[in-house]
Amino acid sequence: MKDTTKHFDKVLNASKFYNHVDHQPDANKDVIHNGPEISMPYANQNGNYQRNRPVLNKSFANSKFYIIGSGIAGLSTAYYLVRDAQVPGSHITFIEQLHIEGGSMDGSGNAEEGYLIRGGREMDMTYENFWDLFQDIPAVELPHPYSVLDEYRLLNDNDSNYSKSRLISNKGVVEDFSKLGLNKKDQLALVKLLLKNKEDLDDLTIDDYFSDTFKKSNFWTFWRTMFAFEQWHSLLEFKLYMHRFLHDLDGLNDLSALVFPKYNQYDTFIKPLRKFLVEKGVKLQLNTLVSDMNIEIAADGTKVVKSIETIQDGKDTQIVIGKDDYVIVTTGSMTEDSVYGNNTEAPIQKIDNATSGQSAGWKLWKNLAAKSEVFGRPEKFCGDIEKSSWMSATLTCKPSAFVEKLKGYSVNDPYSGKTVTGGIITITDSNWLMSFTCNRQPHYPTQPDDILVIWVYALFMDKDGNYVKKAMPECTGNEILAELCYHLGIEDQLDNVIENTKVRTAFMPYITSMFMPRAKGDRPAIIPEGCTNLGLVGQFVETNNDVVFTMESSVRTARVAVYSLLNLNKQVPDVYPSQYDIRHLLKATKALNDGAPFVGEGLLRKIMKGSYYEHIIPGSAIDENEEKKENFIQEQMSKFHDWMDHVKGKLNL
Ligand SMILES: Cc1cc2nc3c(=O)[nH]c(=O)nc-3n(C[C@H](O)[C@H](O)[C@H](O)COP(=O)(O)OP(=O)(O)OC[C@H]3O[C@@H](n4cnc5c(N)ncnc54)[C@H](O)[C@@H]3O)c2cc1C
Repeated sequence: MKDTTKHFDKVLNASKFYNHVDHQPDANKDVIHNGPEISMPYANQNGNYQRNRPVLNKSFANSKFYIIGSGIAGLSTAYYLVRDAQVPGSHITFIEQLHIEGGSMDGSGNAEEGYLIRGGREMDMTYENFWDLFQDIPAVELPHPYSVLDEYRLLNDNDSNYSKSRLISNKGVVEDFSKLGLNKKDQLALVKLLLKNKEDLDDLTIDDYFSDTFKKSNFWTFWRTMFAFEQWHSLLEFKLYMHRFLHDLDGLNDLSALVFPKYNQYDTFIKPLRKFLVEKGVKLQLNTLVSDMNIEIAADGTKVVKSIETIQDGKDTQIVIGKDDYVIVTTGSMTEDSVYGNNTEAPIQKIDNATSGQSAGWKLWKNLAAKSEVFGRPEKFCGDIEKSSWMSATLTCKPSAFVEKLKGYSVNDPYSGKTVTGGIITITDSNWLMSFTCNRQPHYPTQPDDILVIWVYALFMDKDGNYVKKAMPECTGNEILAELCYHLGIEDQLDNVIENTKVRTAFMPYITSMFMPRAKGDRPAIIPEGCTNLGLVGQFVETNNDVVFTMESSVRTARVAVYSLLNLNKQVPDVYPSQYDIRHLLKATKALNDGAPFVGEGLLRKIMKGSYYEHIIPGSAIDENEEKKENFIQEQMSKFHDWMDHVKGKLNL
């Protein structure tokens, strides 16, 4: 490697930065400024300057890499090893317990037996790491040299996403969903939460913090159904979501903030990425569980993986880890232990909380945690399936009364290839809190023209339906159709709907396990303290400011793992900085106030009028009456403060 850098030696030998890069800079601790001591970009400076290829200080040509788990976290680990660490693909082996790669990003089935997607796919333009990767992966349908990102842009740039029926109730009537409906106190509670330090929110839940009026607002309905939050989930994670998606707040009601892939997530993302990696020589060992690792822990806390224990076809085997080799593990999975049903079979009889955390996929993380506290506390996440489960259903629909009803809720004809419902439609008076969506069709490359694929999910697993007096996981697909048809006011045409709809259901015990209340130390670091050849990736590791339940955050952890473990001279910028952008802050404040002027808006407009920055205040100028009202309130507030000061003075306070 010396040969490569010899022309730069005068600088490199004198540099205190070279080989000492902060791989995961924290924007929450960064005071941005220029100065002689600064040579790297600020913590959340995303963009082309970060597209550099790190010049290696060491070759990894003799190292072998074992990646446990082949979800997007694992697959992107391999991608960054190849791209940024120049590891030959043939030195990388995946070990995956399932029969297929992709983890939670699935897309299986066919028109005859019914398609199956456990998840829908809401996305955002600021998935910086995800797009960094997919701008390099060859497109699915466009010819060379186009990429998956090029294909994605072609579609989303020309077909905007929005909903005209975000909320329905009362047997299918579209509600007014134009407002977030937060009163002043609840708006203030959100602002105060943004101001709180993350460290002060350990183990708190959303219920602990927000009022009943907040939980009755449209905001909470939009928020929890769009992101799958429950009121018993982590308040800290709620806060991180507010920061991470601050720029989306004004598109929360009609979902215009979202972008979507053309097909399901497996065909759009996993398949081309897998193809790219396999062409590089990467090997996939499927149907193999890694149950444990032999880790040597020295007195100074250094931890070295010596071997990994695997079970394949019931047979135990051991893989020895050489001195130059590395292991990267996806700890756990939100779709671990999924159970499936169909039109006539329910996925489960009853949720049995005693089974929490007992399935094979949690074993490795639990065994690691037993070796040292640096590996976190898996039971905090996998220990209560009554609180972490929900269920989805995929409907494979031939024309029927349901499809006719769907047309009325759609922004384009469902068969047009364009945006259909523009994201989920939530049934607000559903006991299960059921939502459904029809994304652009076809949702599978091989889908016949007369078929639509629809995704349904619900948040409450312990309540009987309004029509079918059972909890959702105990229902057959036909019973779920009955409940859906009842809420759409077409239960009298149920026979026609059942006859033309294949249903495949998936009960996921751990689907929101990442959202469970947590405290510092519950999630391990990506490179746990003392580890020299082991990195952890996925949804259950600590990041500075990113959220969970996104593909983006899994890719981020993969990138951080590769750069940190191999000490590459490259960093992963912190999350997209909209929360620090005055335009987004003003826009969000106004959105929380449902477009009405925020406190001080009139004054701000006056100061900015005619200036270069006038346009950063969102919306049109407030009318004179409103301005007068605002001035009146400010005047009264100021009088009140004067009076308080006067009283304090009198009382000698
Ligand atoms: C229903 C649903 C809806 C979603 N909606 C969205 C969305 O709208 N937008 C968005 O951005 N994201 C969404 N997501 C989240 C996104 O899909 C996940 O965050 C992401 O796919 C997680 O990837 P991962 O690689 O970290 O984990 P996973 O995909 O869960 O992969 C982990 C893999 O590791 C394997 N594994 C684990 N332990 C072992 C072991 N010991 N031995 C062998 N193999 C092991 C597992 O079998 C699994 O294949 C959704 C997910 C679901 C399920």
